[in-house]
Amino acid sequence: MMIIYNGPSLLDGKPIVVIATKKSGNAKTGDMVQTYILCRDIDPRDANKRGDDYSICGNCKHRGTATDDPTRKLAKNRSCYVNIGQGVLIVWKAFQRGAYDAITGHDNIAAIGAGRMVRLGTYGDPSAVPAWIWESLLSQADGWTGYSHQADVAGADYRPDMVMRSADTEQEARDAWQNGERTFRVVANVSDIIAGREILCPASKEAGQRVQCHDCKLCAGSSIAAKSIAIPAHGAGATHFTA
Ligand code: SF4
Repeated sequence: MMIIYNGPSLLDGKPIVVIATKKSGNAKTGDMVQTYILCRDIDPRDANKRGDDYSICGNCKHRGTATDDPTRKLAKNRSCYVNIGQGVLIVWKAFQRGAYDAITGHDNIAAIGAGRMVRLGTYGDPSAVPAWIWESLLSQADGWTGYSHQADVAGADYRPDMVMRSADTEQEARDAWQNGERTFRVVANVSDIIAGREILCPASKEAGQRVQCHDCKLCAGSSIAAKSIAIPAHGAGATHFTA
């Protein structure tokens, strides 16, 4: 694991880090370089609970509602698919212990992604980070997946040529398509998919889970000439399927 960014969030100027991991056995994404975008100095559970995760998640609605309720560990009504208490917390604690080396410079960051599939924002929104970090990481990669909720957020380095726009409504998706953007949308049912504009994610249960992101590679923004992606929601906390 390596630190590939340590600096201000583009969303609110507070300190964040990006940790890249070489190995991943994630069942849905397959073997991809994972990238964790984290508040640098705040336990990720507390950051979510208090709303300090704006630095890394911006206005994504899946963060839930900030609270100071002493009986809660996380924000109210959090619906993000990422389990903060597992990989995110482990990575942040190891970073705090000084377990990871900082990697700087285009060539060194490029080497991490070389010949690999890369996942932009295993946790956190890639647009909180200057895109030149991602450009280096992806410059020799086999491909990547990425998603962003920050299309309308001032300061965000939102790159629709690189990431899928996470669309929370059909109207948002339609507006994005007008701009040539590709979207990733969670729908209630397969029948909600807009024929001719969207296709069903092939990793979904409904599509028979016939491929992983590692081989599919479709969620790479407008760098790929393909239809937008939709996936039916799968129960509580799975409203945003990108894991
Ligand atoms: S459509 Fe996107 S989320 Fe689904 S398998 Fe392909 S890359 Fe992964």
